[in-house]
Amino acid sequence: MSITIPLDVLVIGGGSAGLWLLDELRRKGHSAVLVESDSLGKGQTIASQGILHGGMKHALVARPGTFVKALGSMTRVWRECLSGDREPDLSSVSRRSDSCYFWRTSSFASFVGSFGARFGIRSEIKKVAYTSLPDVLRGASGDVYQIDEQVIDPSSLVSALFERNRPFVIRADVARVELSSRNTVIAVHLSGSNGYIKTLKSEFVVLTAGEGNAALRKICGLPEKAMLLLPLQILVLRGDLPDLNGVCLEGTQAKAVITTHRLSNNDAVWQFASERIDPEASERFAQLALGEIAAALPGFNFPKFSVSVYTAKRAECATESGGRCADVAVFKEGNVVTAWPTKLVLVPRMVERVMGYLPFLSSHTGIEREIAEFPRPEIAPFPWVPN
Ligand SMILES: Cc1cc2nc3c(=O)[nH]c(=O)nc-3n(C[C@H](O)[C@H](O)[C@H](O)COP(=O)(O)OP(=O)(O)OC[C@H]3O[C@@H](n4cnc5c(N)ncnc54)[C@H](O)[C@@H]3O)c2cc1C
Repeated sequence: MSITIPLDVLVIGGGSAGLWLLDELRRKGHSAVLVESDSLGKGQTIASQGILHGGMKHALVARPGTFVKALGSMTRVWRECLSGDREPDLSSVSRRSDSCYFWRTSSFASFVGSFGARFGIRSEIKKVAYTSLPDVLRGASGDVYQIDEQVIDPSSLVSALFERNRPFVIRADVARVELSSRNTVIAVHLSGSNGYIKTLKSEFVVLTAGEGNAALRKICGLPEKAMLLLPLQILVLRGDLPDLNGVCLEGTQAKAVITTHRLSNNDAVWQFASERIDPEASERFAQLALGEIAAALPGFNFPKFSVSVYTAKRAECATESGGRCADVAVFKEGNVVTAWPTKLVLVPRMVERVMGYLPFLSSHTGIEREIAEFPRPEIAPFPWVPN
């Protein structure tokens, strides 16, 4: 006879969004479990560049307004968590940089300051004196600015949140969902890769599976919600490169968004994205991207490096008119909440919204023991690591 385990909240999908939410739920005393069907952070979180945008790039390029305000308030939350002054304590997360450079291919004079003020950006922006510039930016035309937007290693974020909640994170598939006649989720049947099967009777189910939210909504009996899957190609340069984290703008487009991950053998991995290259230009992408990097860093004498490309898809909920969301997207339908953070930096805001939908729940105990036999998921490898 199958035993049904009572639970407050079942979180489905273990990227940054689901893991942070699980942490919040557990700290608030709820009995919550996260189920991941593959590896933690697979999809977007591990593929991301890890920039905790404060809104400057979005103010300077295409999407000022609400988005910029949403981003601005989040950088303080992250800074406090990363320094261990606020829960979740993320002081173990590796920071790739505490600030980002901004520069343009043409002159930048007074541009940054006026935009920052216009959109209420709270980031600290300072012009970098030529003598303080790293070699890699010495040839940049016009002024170079430094903004207090941090860059994190997303794998270490996933690891930190996982380690805080390991007993409550399982690797399993959602095999079946039992619905009531009013389309409320009554129970979720989970099957582990080791053949272990359990039925969880959760008061609430939260979907934080990124791209996977669409299929999960279907099996939870929910109507289709328009989701955008935006392909993004990333060029990876690996070699004896210097640290560089920043954005080069051309007109209103991000010509180059470059972040640096330092490997244990001291090689650097540069992740490079550009809004100027057509995402459909797949075969020529590497060649076009190398041209954009060279133009963004004139005068830089590139050392020897290897080149690879990976593609990832941003999963965002579409607006009613089919456009891109300017904020987090969170919907409660019956006892199911569907959530997309839209950006890594907005994860704490998404978590706050989800928590607002969940009433105070009577905590069930003993869940840890009941799910002990499920395997635990791995953390997804970086996309540049060969499998
Ligand atoms: C290339 C790239 C660069 C980016 N750079 C930045 C940046 O610099 N700054 C920034 O703020 N944002 C950035 N983003 C956006 C950011 O990465 C995402 O908004 C954020 O990581 C989304 O997190 P998530 O947890 O919702 O989704 P994901 O990270 O996609 O996690 C979803 C999880 O759900 C799991 N899952 C899927 N289906 C199921 C299922 N049926 N059952 C159980 N589990 C399931 C997946 O395996 C995965 O672990 C970037 C995105 C991309 C693609």
